[in-house]
Amino acid sequence: MPTMFERIRRRYETTDKKCPDCGYVDEDGNWDSRTDGRQIVYRHVCPSCDASREHTFTIK
Ligand SMILES: [Zn+2]
Repeated sequence: MPTMFERIRRRYETTDKKCPDCGYVDEDGNWDSRTDGRQIVYRHVCPSCDASREHTFTIK
C-alpha cells in the first residue's frame, strides 16, 4: 500500500516531465522531494534550461 507521499511523487514522475518553458521532456522525471513534517515540496529543475518548478502539499 503506497503512502500518499509515494503516490504523489509517482504522479509527478510519470505525468509531469515536460518543461513548460523550453518544452524539454525529462524522461527520468527527476523530482526532488523534501518535507518538514507539515509540508512536502516537490521540485524539478529542467536539465535543459534550468527552470525550476515546485509543488507544495500540506500534510494533514
Ligand atoms: Zn526547460
